[in-house]
Amino acid sequence: MPSEVVGEDGQRVRVILVEDSMDDAELVVAALRGAGLDPDVTRVDTEAAFRMAMATHPDVVISDLRLPAFDGHRALLVRRELAPEVPFILVSGAVDDATASAVSAAGATDYLLKDRLGRLGAAVVKAIEERESTDARTRAEESAALLASRYEHLVSHSTDVLAIIDLRGNLVHANQALATILGYPVQSVLGESIFGYVHPDDLETAATAFADAAAHDGVAVPVTVRLRALSGGWRWLEAIANNRVGDQSIGGMVVNARDITERVEATALLALEAEISGRIAADAPVSELLDAIASLAFGPGYEENARFDFHHKDFTLSTGNRIIGDERSETTIVVEGETVGTLVTAAARSEPATAFDVLRPPRAAHLAALVAQREIAKSRLSRQAFHDSLTGLANRALLADRIAYALSQIGTPVTLLIVGIDHFKLVNDGLGHEVGDLVLCCLSERLIAAVESGSTLARVGGDEFAILVDRPATDLRTLRLAHRVLDIAQQPIEVDTHSFRLSVSVGIAERTSMASSSTQLMADADTALGAAKRNGRNRVEIFNVDNRGLIEERLVLEQELRAGIPRGELVGFLQPIVNLGTGAVEGAEVLVRWQHPTRGLLVPAHFISWAEETDLIVDVGAAMLEAACAHLVALGPDAGISVSLNAAAREILDPTYAERVLSALRRHGLAPGLLAVELTESLAIADAAPVQANLAALRRAGLRIYLDDFGTGYSSLSYLQQLPVDVLKIDRSFVTAMSADARALQVVAAIAALAHALSLATIAEGVESVADAEVLAGLGIKSAQGYLYAKPLPIDAFRAWLIDARERESAK
Ligand code: C2E
Ligand code: CA
Ligand code: CA
Repeated sequence: MPSEVVGEDGQRVRVILVEDSMDDAELVVAALRGAGLDPDVTRVDTEAAFRMAMATHPDVVISDLRLPAFDGHRALLVRRELAPEVPFILVSGAVDDATASAVSAAGATDYLLKDRLGRLGAAVVKAIEERESTDARTRAEESAALLASRYEHLVSHSTDVLAIIDLRGNLVHANQALATILGYPVQSVLGESIFGYVHPDDLETAATAFADAAAHDGVAVPVTVRLRALSGGWRWLEAIANNRVGDQSIGGMVVNARDITERVEATALLALEAEISGRIAADAPVSELLDAIASLAFGPGYEENARFDFHHKDFTLSTGNRIIGDERSETTIVVEGETVGTLVTAAARSEPATAFDVLRPPRAAHLAALVAQREIAKSRLSRQAFHDSLTGLANRALLADRIAYALSQIGTPVTLLIVGIDHFKLVNDGLGHEVGDLVLCCLSERLIAAVESGSTLARVGGDEFAILVDRPATDLRTLRLAHRVLDIAQQPIEVDTHSFRLSVSVGIAERTSMASSSTQLMADADTALGAAKRNGRNRVEIFNVDNRGLIEERLVLEQELRAGIPRGELVGFLQPIVNLGTGAVEGAEVLVRWQHPTRGLLVPAHFISWAEETDLIVDVGAAMLEAACAHLVALGPDAGISVSLNAAAREILDPTYAERVLSALRRHGLAPGLLAVELTESLAIADAAPVQANLAALRRAGLRIYLDDFGTGYSSLSYLQQLPVDVLKIDRSFVTAMSADARALQVVAAIAALAHALSLATIAEGVESVADAEVLAGLGIKSAQGYLYAKPLPIDAFRAWLIDARERESAK
């Protein structure tokens, strides 16, 4: 029995058996086993079952020719449809020739008669073997085709140009990259000479390389040339020509080339940038640099058509090119975070834009910024030498230059005004240097606005400005300018929370035969300024030769006062203050007098105004505090009057002032209510912390505060708001003018009403006539002081006057 030879190592065969008869099926299996195979048989007898079985990829189909519900022909068709590679062996009872050729035509691999099943095993083995070798061949063919297509793909999709050129230089073959890079369809350039596309400047290089490569089979020659693109521009190609003439399948030069246009442009751009940066550092002239930057902004192949505009507060630069063309772009030029200008480019293109063209304007703007920065630095240096850093005005050196130049113009008038801020030191000391700086800047701006163009405005000292004009000193326009300066200085200045007013003094000097140098002119204007300050400030003085002597005299006086105070040369005179209603003497003001060893008795006009600019005023104040206390003691507790003491701004700004006053009172055993402090209203810094603290401490102790010269200051009402005061002293100027000037009378009436509304007492100063006293009393002014009652008197005279007055009073 054939089945006996089936061993464990029998070849496993998966068989689909198309057979309706179980007996025949067993015969088939036996035959296969007999041939040493190990069959795994799936028997089917319908088309549906066959179709399903075919999906399992059998090794072989063995089919009966005729079945009740199926047949071998049909099975062959199904197998051709589903798995034509599976061998198909037909087994039948009887086969005629026609059937045999039909089944063979339908694709049967083999066929056998049922009574010849002994051959089945061999037929199956042979069919399987044949199938395997067919499969292997198909696979080999398929992979060769795949390789070829991949290769083709690589070549045609390469970004590098791959081309074959014959030995005359004509293009035989090229891949798509050529079209991509240069723009020509490949077909249109085949057969053309590549030399027709080479840039004229590169022709020689190209020809040499080509000749080199052509001379030697198998040699590779590198070359870099520009080729004309369809667009009209040029592309840089880095190529290697490989001589393969000996290779039958090629028979020419294989050229491999890549587009390096961008790299070349980048390198050129960088080199140009480096070169321009170098020239900027080497201080090349601006116009030259701007031209170079303009060409960088465009790149090769463009018409010169870039423009720069720098606008900086110190200078303006422009290439001035007119901008034409449609593709306009603007790039801002930024230096130190500040936009100083714009780079405007517009291209009238002779070539299409490259990727690099978008980089050009920003690179150019960057270089332009470097130029701008260099120029700004330069102008800053020259500014520093000739300008004041705080206000930006010309400095003393530049002013001296300008004066010297003006003086060199023969015949033209040259006049210098020096503007000094009154009591500027108080602002600086009282509110700090930062506030002081802001005040200077504010004043500087106002002066800039006031000065006509053509005049030079300079800052010549901490608190001094100068104006150089080309008119005589006494010209009406010069004097108007000087008074305008007085006016603008008095406009309120707001700094932080402070609001205050300044005043300035102005000294004017002009060119004379004696003052024909800038040094002398400045010195003369200074002298005039000194005179203006000495004469009460907030005024204009024109230099005259006598001023020079006054300056020297002032310096001598200052030394004498310094020496005289400790020697007790200052004397406190008393001027009575009288009640207008009752005529009773209520108080007295202490007024300083200087008993000068040689000049006699000097009134404050000779020394107070300049003493206020130095610490001498503090010594004057201390002397008068002592005098006031001593006088109160001398008058005795029954005198029934209080004494008021003038306090200078510098004193009241001193944080120890209140304590010094209070300790003097204690020392003399006096009640604080006996003393009053008079503050002058022109105290510019009423809201300074020490002023507020001093006043608060004095009032708490029981002293009263008088606001002196009320109405002459610039912000009378705001002082009232800021300062805790008890009494307004109506300035003498109003009282004096009152009888002749209706407006002055109205001012006095308004002050009286204001004081009444605020529950403040009033003292009218400078009352010289009974008529004045009656008018003042009629207006509700409480008290008066003036020559009508008494001039300031030495203590002994005052005491005598007081006794006299009291006697007259009680006699009434
Ligand atoms: P003031 O505080 O307004 O003092 C009043 C001035 O007016 C005094 O001038 C006084 O003599 C003058 N006077 C008073 N009644 C009349 C009058 O009816 N007619 C006229 N024509 N003048 C009159 P004086 O004493 O020359 O003082 C001038 C200024 O000097 C004072 O003005 C005050 O600002 C300052 N002063 C005086 N003594 C001191 C002081 O001890 N310390 C400080 N810091 N300043 C003082
Ligand atoms: Ca006074
Ligand atoms: Ca006064």
